[in-house]
Amino acid sequence: MLDLSKLENVRQRSGKVEARCPACAQMGADTSGNHLYIGVDGRFGCIVNQGPDGEAHRKEVWRLTGSADAAQPKPIPAKRKAARVMAPLPALRPLTAKEMAGIQHLRGWHTFAGLELLTQRGLLHFARVWDDGAEHPAWLVTDSTGRNAQARKLDGTAWKCGKAKTLPGREASWPIGAPEIGNRRNVALCEGQPDFAAALLVAWWEGVEVAPVCMTGAGNSIPADALPYFTGKRVRIAVHSDEAGLGAGKRWARQLRSVGAVVDGFDFSGLSRADGKPVEDLADYATLLDSETPAPAAIFAGLHDSTPRAVV
Ligand SMILES: [Zn+2]
Repeated sequence: MLDLSKLENVRQRSGKVEARCPACAQMGADTSGNHLYIGVDGRFGCIVNQGPDGEAHRKEVWRLTGSADAAQPKPIPAKRKAARVMAPLPALRPLTAKEMAGIQHLRGWHTFAGLELLTQRGLLHFARVWDDGAEHPAWLVTDSTGRNAQARKLDGTAWKCGKAKTLPGREASWPIGAPEIGNRRNVALCEGQPDFAAALLVAWWEGVEVAPVCMTGAGNSIPADALPYFTGKRVRIAVHSDEAGLGAGKRWARQLRSVGAVVDGFDFSGLSRADGKPVEDLADYATLLDSETPAPAAIFAGLHDSTPRAVV
């Protein structure tokens, strides 16, 4: 299997995955980023190096991006195929350290370690995103299915539509990162891109292994075909301290319990930021993590307890 997190310009189209061919890319070719195709069975090829003559080229693709245990996207169920035509995502690349430091600064975090970890999972990228007549450098979250993708501008200013932009043709309700849960037992379910970007920082700080999953809005419910990813998992929801956040937490918990997940939530009320304002979400909480002072809470504590905390 090819490790999709190592490929550029990955997107799913008619049940197969397309991406920039890494073997072509290392020779400076495939600038359009669509030579590589991967079938639902994991077989892959390069459209300009097909057949027996392409054998050495395919070996090079495998050498560059092959992995014995890479997570693979679930094929889109047949009944959905006809209904949805996914426009390709813009070309994706990892954020540079400087770009990550910029996000860190805007969020008030003390490190960009969480962004680096999210990048390694293939869930955080740089992209140039079109908005209001121009392309803008952005940090974008999506997963191996590409079904949902949300972006924020790197300079911290808003899009025409607001702070966060769901890219055209995406399903805003798709839980980003659900296909990457894989064998991980613990799931950190987050509301919104900043919390998703903070999740692995907090988990790393606490020494807990979690799979971060992002619901991009409190109004969304988890689609039925994403629920099986959560079966048998231990899910903790980082519940936003507002009415919409608590309502969303309760709704997601109900949905996840229906497929056999053990779910609870973390309640941020009572915690204060350095400026004295209340901590309202996981991204706020992450600003409190610095090496000078002990962490004021343990967000992912007790994931092995048989009795989940209440909250949701
Ligand atoms: Zn190629």
